[in-house]
Amino acid sequence: MNKKIKVGILGATGMVGQNYLKLLANHPWFDVVYLAASPNSAGKKYVSAVAGRWHMDAEIPDAYRNLVVEDASNVAKAVGKCSLIFSAVELDKQSIIKLEEEYAAKGFAVVSNNSAHRATDYVPLIIPEINHSHLDIIPRQRKQRGWQDGLLIVKPNCSIQSYMLPIYALIAAGYPISHMIVSTMQAVSGAGYPGEASIDLIDNVLPTLEGEEKKSEIEPAKILGKVAGDKIVSDDSIKISAHCSRVPVTDGHIACCSLKFATKKPSPEEAIKIWRSFSSLPQELKLPTAPVPPIIYRDEPDRPQPRKDRDAGNGMAVTVGRARPCNVFDLRFVGLHHNTNRGAAGGAILAAELLVAKEYIK
Ligand code: NAP
Repeated sequence: MNKKIKVGILGATGMVGQNYLKLLANHPWFDVVYLAASPNSAGKKYVSAVAGRWHMDAEIPDAYRNLVVEDASNVAKAVGKCSLIFSAVELDKQSIIKLEEEYAAKGFAVVSNNSAHRATDYVPLIIPEINHSHLDIIPRQRKQRGWQDGLLIVKPNCSIQSYMLPIYALIAAGYPISHMIVSTMQAVSGAGYPGEASIDLIDNVLPTLEGEEKKSEIEPAKILGKVAGDKIVSDDSIKISAHCSRVPVTDGHIACCSLKFATKKPSPEEAIKIWRSFSSLPQELKLPTAPVPPIIYRDEPDRPQPRKDRDAGNGMAVTVGRARPCNVFDLRFVGLHHNTNRGAAGGAILAAELLVAKEYIK
């Protein structure tokens, strides 16, 4: 690429926004030039806006320290500065829908981390290795919404990547799944900053994550669905029951899964072989953020673990272990991914790279 694509980040001061800055500091295709957040941060230099709440282990990249943060609702301010927007604002659903559509209408390619648009039938819900073909809806999305160059895609909830890549690999290898019970143990960074109170979490596990179980049960159907006309039609052939808990881990969501197959079932050895050989379009296209391999299978009986495995593949690989027969269903395993990287900023960056490779962003 001769010239880098100019990028803006909405919610740049938050947990996900900070991850974008960390991951994009040396990106070969993208150059962050526009930062926006709430009116509280607007007008401040980035370094002042995040004073006392910069959570990354690396320092704030020099290129961003003195950028002045804009008010994300002032869409006109971004016009002419950038063409790609990563959205990670924490707002009510209707305000996010309105804000992201305003950016798309003004010609921006919007890649969102928010849940507001995940169920919208003209908005692809993308895990790049699984449903890259859903981007085919973009010309129809543009026509339907009257957007010239703008577009809107979203990435899924941060809890589902640990199991979506492993189950998709099995389905793609000819083992359709009919039922899944999944129990997630989700890290505290998944709730943003400050998240749950420390007094609630230390020496404890919180067994109710509002909204997470529903998202974990509904979003897979859309991801496994198909583009039909100007809509994405869900494939709800897998019945999913999810339990989601918050655990006192900083980063790295775990999913313990039991699968029942619709027809034939793979042995654990066959499943491991499928996961180890899995690869997809982002790897073929050698997208800068694509992990190779996307799924890492660990033979040790005590893996995956958040501290040891969340940074695998630069925080973009899904680590799987403990494949074994299930006494109730057919097969069980444990999956793990980095929730603010693969599950948030990194997953969205990979989706944006796919948009560039497919020439939806010029
Ligand atoms: P966060 O740490 O609470 O950050 C929220 C961001 O939104 C901040 O930049 C904040 O700006 C901005 N904001 C708040 N009110 C605003 C307003 N009225 N107008 C414009 N910007 C406003 O949250 P987060 O964890 O980064 O999550 C951001 C979004 O990503 C949420 O929708 C979340 O559900 C989603 N998400 C999070 C994760 C994760 O692992 N954390 C994963 C996937 C998806 P100020 O600093 O100025 O207040």
